[in-house]
Amino acid sequence: MFEYAPAPESRSIVDIKPSYGLFVNGSFAEPTDGSTFKTISPASEEVLAEVAEAGPSDVDRAVSAARDAFDRWAALPGATRAKYIYRLARIIQERSRELAVLESLDNGKPIRESRDVDVPLAAAHFFYYAGWADKLEHAGLGPSPRPIGVAAQVIPWNFPLLMLAWKIAPALAGGNTVVLKPAETTPLTALVFAEICQQADLPPGVVNIITGAGATGARLVEHPGVDKVAFTGSTEVGRQIARAVAGTRKRVTLELGGKAANIVFDDAPIDQAVEGIVNGIFFNQGHVCCAGSRLLVQESVYDGVLAALKRRMAQLRVGDPLDKNTDIGAINSAAQLERIRTLSEIGSSEGAERWSPPCSLPDRGFWFAPTIFTGVTQAHRIAREEIFGPVLSVLTFRTPAEAVEKANNTPYGLSAGVWTEKGSRILAIADQLRAGVVWANTFNKFDPSSPFGGYKESGYGREGGRHGLEAYIG
Ligand code: NDP
Repeated sequence: MFEYAPAPESRSIVDIKPSYGLFVNGSFAEPTDGSTFKTISPASEEVLAEVAEAGPSDVDRAVSAARDAFDRWAALPGATRAKYIYRLARIIQERSRELAVLESLDNGKPIRESRDVDVPLAAAHFFYYAGWADKLEHAGLGPSPRPIGVAAQVIPWNFPLLMLAWKIAPALAGGNTVVLKPAETTPLTALVFAEICQQADLPPGVVNIITGAGATGARLVEHPGVDKVAFTGSTEVGRQIARAVAGTRKRVTLELGGKAANIVFDDAPIDQAVEGIVNGIFFNQGHVCCAGSRLLVQESVYDGVLAALKRRMAQLRVGDPLDKNTDIGAINSAAQLERIRTLSEIGSSEGAERWSPPCSLPDRGFWFAPTIFTGVTQAHRIAREEIFGPVLSVLTFRTPAEAVEKANNTPYGLSAGVWTEKGSRILAIADQLRAGVVWANTFNKFDPSSPFGGYKESGYGREGGRHGLEAYIG
């Protein structure tokens, strides 16, 4: 391994306030019941800021503000709404360095990823949907598309700003107003986005951001003033939300968990496949719903793939998220670290063989070394459950039919990967995979114009592209 001198990004570009209120009706306000919580840096456990916890009357106020703003926002010409959304996109670009540093501090992800993936993609989503705002009648959604109303949006901690963009951009383009709740462990970039809404002169009440824990999210989605619910997170909470809104007029989209198969055939270019395997599972510490967490390797190339994968893993740098050399940052929370540890211990106790490259982890904060399990069978819990961490389960197959059967043998159906030199095989296999996205000879590639979403327990509805607008048009 080469020795690299530290290359830390300066955090002085971010001015984190000691405390943040709720963003309701265009301004920040204290919560009415006065409670707060702290958000920490998972890499150091240092407290970054104190954040308001929205209680029931705060949720009421936020939903009322969105309701009051709705008629005026929906009545604006599409081109005027587009102007505001373009402004949001431009300001995200202008403040991109600040947003990237803040995202890495609050989430623990490497600065290389927040700088090169999360923030540029968030801006790209706003640009993309700004383009649709005055062309809705050409989107194939009927001759006079109408907004749905007030959208309640609850997002997770793995891509805080990007998930905000996935939710808010199409909602605004369609003429809806929103109340968004970021995850408890990663509220800060959403609060800076609230400042960006002020900077863009977005009419008050069009975007409201309320922070809090699961109870705040539950109150928001159950609120009778809400017309549409959009959720990304665990399948378990997705089920609770589906139950809570069943029988109401609310429209719902759910983007939930995954256990993607990344399938490597014997004719695949091995070095490229290994890069794709590493990107598939170690990108964002494996906190990715579409992570390639099950590697299926054709038996005849298993030894070569595994040796190359181990060599590559030994090059991964784990450590300070703000260091530009870092490949794997901190695990987002103590609770998530515990979950990864528990499932990994279950993997060993069920008989799979565990391997990690030698790597020293920092003393403070939440860390987990990149890990692979071999000798995994379909029956193992680590092959069935979403670990949501840098842990890969390796299985083998002999024939394409066996690969497809194993890949589909999961309650999830969000994504999959196929590595082969044969174009015909790519098409044939992709056709048989029950997954919303299938990547061929690449993995974890996203674009605002491309729809994303799952089958089975991975949820329903699509985000991104023209399909993503459909969820916000009545
Ligand atoms: P959750 O599904 O609990 O969190 C997602 C969001 O929902 C958060 O904003 C959360 O708030 C909120 N929330 C929690 N409970 C409710 C509720 N009853 N009604 C409405 N909103 C609610 O994920 P966790 O953070 O608990 O992670 C647990 C596991 O879920 C992970 O280990 C991983 O396996 C999976 N996961 C999958 C994701 C995906 O994209 N597929 C994303 C995140 C997690 P708060 O953060 O304050 O609790």
